[in-house]
Amino acid sequence: MKRKQLEMMLERLEGFSRPSFQKEQYATPASVAAEMLFLAGLRGDLGTVCDLGTGTGVLAIGAALMGARVVGVEIDGEALAVAGRNAKKLGADVNYIRADVSFVQLKGIDTVIMNPPFGAQKASAGDRAFLGKALKIAKTVYSLHNRGSEDFIRSFVKPASVQEIYRIPFPLKRCFEFHSQKVKIIEVELYRITCE
Ligand code: SAH
Repeated sequence: MKRKQLEMMLERLEGFSRPSFQKEQYATPASVAAEMLFLAGLRGDLGTVCDLGTGTGVLAIGAALMGARVVGVEIDGEALAVAGRNAKKLGADVNYIRADVSFVQLKGIDTVIMNPPFGAQKASAGDRAFLGKALKIAKTVYSLHNRGSEDFIRSFVKPASVQEIYRIPFPLKRCFEFHSQKVKIIEVELYRITCE
């Protein structure tokens, strides 16, 4: 499948019905998800994949469409209902688990691909919990972060190490009331981290 083709399919997916600001629910735009998954595919990292905080399932479904075996973990039942419909819509085979990433136990995962909450809000576990769990369950982790996260990520993931940082344009759509512009392009950082 071509990257553009995957992006167009992911664009058809339903978003969060009532995005929770507290849980930092923000769906990865299709263009960003397709880019992440293609980079992972090029590296041969799409074997058994886990999407931590799968939300409406964009990354999980995209990975499944690229041929990965996929588990998506999410705390919010309402988001999972959307994720289930989304998988069905595109005929993707995804296993969803309703759980808090801090407590979930998983075996046999090759790669975690995630867009973790930044941890700015109390109700969400935050990127530390997500990164910690990701590195516990997989040898390779793809994780999306705000620009300028490099120092924090490099030191937090030790003894695992950052192999690559990709800078990806991220169309930020207006979804919470206080965002004023309709679409703003920001740049985010995708980290490829491995534990050897
Ligand atoms: N992966 C999706 C959603 C990203 S938003 C995407 O790329 O589009 C982050 C998601 O993490 C939200 O759906 C939120 O509900 C979920 N989340 C926040 N804290 C969580 C926790 N402790 N355990 C599991 N999921 C959590």
